[in-house]
Order: sequence, then structure tokens, then C-alpha cells
Amino acid sequence: MRTIAVANQKGGVGKTTTAVNLATALAAVGQRVVLIDFDAQGNASTGLGIGRDKRTPSSYEILHEPALAASAAQETMIPGLRIIPATDALAGAEVELVGELNPTGRLKAAIQKLPPTDYVFIDCPPSLSLLTLNALVAADGVLIPLQTEFYAMEGLSQLLKTVEQVRARQNPRLDIEGVVLTMHDKRNRLSDLVASDVRAALGTRVFETMIPRNVRLSEAPSHGVPALVYDVRCPGSEAYMALAREMMTTAAKAA
Ligand code: ATP
Ligand code: MG
Repeated sequence: MRTIAVANQKGGVGKTTTAVNLATALAAVGQRVVLIDFDAQGNASTGLGIGRDKRTPSSYEILHEPALAASAAQETMIPGLRIIPATDALAGAEVELVGELNPTGRLKAAIQKLPPTDYVFIDCPPSLSLLTLNALVAADGVLIPLQTEFYAMEGLSQLLKTVEQVRARQNPRLDIEGVVLTMHDKRNRLSDLVASDVRAALGTRVFETMIPRNVRLSEAPSHGVPALVYDVRCPGSEAYMALAREMMTTAAKAA
């Protein structure tokens, strides 16, 4: 089982779009995948068509009671993909966990209660909060979506420093899964420039596959389906399938 935290404290960079569509692409090729919606906004839950009245037990409950994880992971319309949804309650978890025993190890304990699974994705909130720390402590790898725009790298060093700290103190397994460039616009010179700058700065940690800016990717959630279901042939869906293949070959090479 490989647990991947999709994280970037910058908002709106494509974390949720990446988590939902990459999880779908991996399930489509036969992997057993669990997506944990770990953001009180609940965007991943909405994007997979889970109604607000069907979101408990949620990622909030499993923090308090890890044994609930297996039953909280509910089936989605995608065979092989299950989701642990999020509710507003998660916003209160921050405050509640402080003062409890091992406040950053709660999600890890819950994930350990899941039945056999190939990939667990954690869709993190846009902050370096206690929730994101829980995700980093639980993860084998961090997948960092970066929007190809002028301020792309802003905040990245702080995220990498946090990863470094978690690795040193709590989770020596933690690795950088890779950086994925999102909302790339090949007709825009700045977008291309940022992409090559990021590659020059981070080298092989940046996935070859870039996710193009594609309106189909932003339309799909309003229909409660992943882009791969909404329009499997759109450039965004094809890019996420390519990213899934790249991730699987990179993992196979590393093994
Ligand atoms: P937050 O920090 O709020 O959780 P996020 O990092 O999860 O945001 P998303 O919700 O995935 O980011 O994306 C932000 C917005 O951009 C959404 O409206 C989404 O539909 C849109 N979007 C994401 N990726 C693309 C893309 N490649 N092309 C076009 N629109 C995109
Ligand atoms: Mg999100």
C-alpha cells in the first residue's frame, strides 16, 4: 500500500482535481484506491457525487475513532475507488486534537485500519495545519501540485521545510512523490517559462506529465463526476491517465 498526501498550502492550485482524477485513473487500471477527503470544504466528496447527507462517518470521525476507517470508506461510482468523505465538522478537529494524545498521528492510525488497498490519496486543505501534518505523518509520499503561473514557487520552500521536519521527527519514510505542474497553457509564454524554471530548480522531482488548463476539468465537479467519467477523451483526462502511468512506472523503478 502506498499512501500519498496531495498537499500545497497555496489555495486553488489543483490539489483536489489531481486527487480525484489521479485516484480515478489508477482505479480504472485495476488498482484498489481509497481517497480521503481531508478538507472541510469537502470538494473531493462533491466531485465524486457524494451528497451532503451521505458523508458520515467522515474523515472527522476517523480521527477520533480510527477503527471506523474501514466502514467510513464508501464505494463510489468508480469500481475500485472508495472515498472517506469530509464534512464541516473537520474544521473543528484542529482545536479538538490539540491536547489529545499524539495529535499528529491520528490519521495514520486510521489508515492502518483500512482493508488491503494499493493506493491511499489524502486531499489536504490549503494550509500547513495540524490536518496537513496528520497527512504527512501518515504518508509515504507527498504529491505537490504547482500551478504554472508567476507565483508558483512561492510557499514551496516552506512546504519542503515542513516535509523535512516531519521526516526527521515523525516519519522517516516520507518522500517527495513529485511535483505536478497544473493548469499549464502552452500558448502562454509565461506558463511555459514557469514550467521550465520549476524543472530547472527541482529537476527530476517534477513529473514529465503536465496537466493542461482544460475547462472540462473544472466543469466535471458540478456534475458530481470525475473528468475521466465526464469526458474521458478531453486533454485533462488524458493528462491524468498519463500521470497515473508515469507514477506507476516511477514506483516500479524505485522498487
Ligand atoms: P483548495 O486549495 O481550495 O483546496 P485546490 O488546490 O484543491 O483548491 P482545485 O479545487 O483542484 O484546487 O482547483 C481550483 C479550481 O481550478 C477549481 O475550480 C478547478 O475546477 C479548477 N481547475 C483545477 N485544475 C484545472 C485545470 N487543469 N484546468 C482548468 N481548471 C482547473
Ligand atoms: Mg481542494
